[in-house]
Amino acid sequence: MIETRNPATGQTLKEYEELSPEGIESKLAAAQSAYEAWRVSDISERTQILSRLADAYEANKDAMARQCTREMGKTLSSATAEVEKCASLFRHLAKNGPPMLEPETWELDGGGTAEGRWLPQGVVLAIMPWNFPYWQAARFLAPTILAGNVGVLKHASIVQGCAKLMEDMMGEAGAPEGLFQNLCIKSDAVEGIIADDRIVAVTLTGSEGAGQAVAQQAGKQLKKVVLELGGSDPFIVMPSANLDEAVSQAVKARIQNTGQSCICGKRMIVHTDIYDEFLERFSDAMKAVKAGDPMEEDTDMGPLSSFEQRDTVIQQLEEATKHGAKLLFGGEAFGDDGAYITAGILTDVAPDNPVTQEEIFGPVAMLFRADDIDDAIRIANDIPFGLGSSVWTNDEGEKERFIRDIEAGMTAVNQFLASSPEAPFGGIKRSGHGRELSRFGVHEFMNLKTVMLP
Ligand code: NAP
Repeated sequence: MIETRNPATGQTLKEYEELSPEGIESKLAAAQSAYEAWRVSDISERTQILSRLADAYEANKDAMARQCTREMGKTLSSATAEVEKCASLFRHLAKNGPPMLEPETWELDGGGTAEGRWLPQGVVLAIMPWNFPYWQAARFLAPTILAGNVGVLKHASIVQGCAKLMEDMMGEAGAPEGLFQNLCIKSDAVEGIIADDRIVAVTLTGSEGAGQAVAQQAGKQLKKVVLELGGSDPFIVMPSANLDEAVSQAVKARIQNTGQSCICGKRMIVHTDIYDEFLERFSDAMKAVKAGDPMEEDTDMGPLSSFEQRDTVIQQLEEATKHGAKLLFGGEAFGDDGAYITAGILTDVAPDNPVTQEEIFGPVAMLFRADDIDDAIRIANDIPFGLGSSVWTNDEGEKERFIRDIEAGMTAVNQFLASSPEAPFGGIKRSGHGRELSRFGVHEFMNLKTVMLP
């Protein structure tokens, strides 16, 4: 059984029966059979399913958002925005996807031409996290449909209700049976599925540990893997920046999704000339954050996604302070029933403090003082991760230095970093490899067949 629990109340929501080995076999057989037909489907059929899926998400927005808030605690308004964002991705690919699959031709110096054809490959396994339960899985689902591939999903245990709803939406959109199925399984069943001949590739969004385990299993089977892992993104503020904007977006970065977003600034690196002013304003704004019932409209921040997640964050803060960091305020559990925690700020984090190398997946910011741009870039890069980054400056030379020198898959200039259907998304270093979204995401699991023609 897989039990889901409301992190705002501590109450059990539902128990889901895990798939038996026979149940897994039957879903994989259905996926393979769906692939045989889907691989030769017309592109217009694929874009129609994407459009109808967008309609289904919009029509069921409220129910989907409520399920998400109940299962992982994000505010209802942000859960609603997440469902809308999935619909916009389906619509984006329905409209802009077909040209991404157009063949490319090259004239050969020795005579003749070569043509690159984008062909599907088969059934892809997606292993997804709970923090954006619909959006993370939609980033896999939309290109899968467009490419002519087929998907099976192992979703995070705590969001099984969301996973089931995503499968239901396929039925509502009139998708062929088996095109996208939810596998209600625990992670120990994953290795056997990766080894199954019907699975051609694997994509995982989640922690470093899960990425390592799944990459090893996929490597053993010589199957391609895309990994979207954790990060501890730098958020750098220089003296020429618009400080009002930088402070308000720094707060958003740390409290959005109760700090549980892979690409939100987690380490605020501030130039020494404006450090004190930034700290004062940032502290005031973080103290004013209203944490509470995620179903209420005026709540800024719900609970963490689970009690285990809260224990992890509190333990990290204890370790950090043992190694000399100062918890200025926040990072405290509150409320009798839910997995609530207050927003906070950690300063005086020495370079050898183990927390500098970790991701804090909660609403507590680490604040660093940088002497100059070189120092800011040094601090930014002094981590094993390389997912996103956000830089605040109005100096053109500084912007170019950050773009060139920050070791990350993404850099946002004078803005909060957010994913978008049109732009590639992904990291480097221990944040993973491969890209989602845009044509790069669509092509990840396709066979670029080279056709030599006279
Ligand atoms: P997680 O514990 O790694 O879980 C992610 C998924 O992997 C879940 O479905 C989980 O299943 C499964 N899993 C865990 N261990 C596994 C194993 N050994 N073999 C196979 N599957 C395994 O991560 P999370 O706590 O849900 O998510 C938070 C992490 O995801 C953070 O580090 C965050 O930064 C990262 N993240 C990255 C991105 C990105 O795009 N780069 C986006 C969002 C989140 P169970 O739930 O059953 O354990």
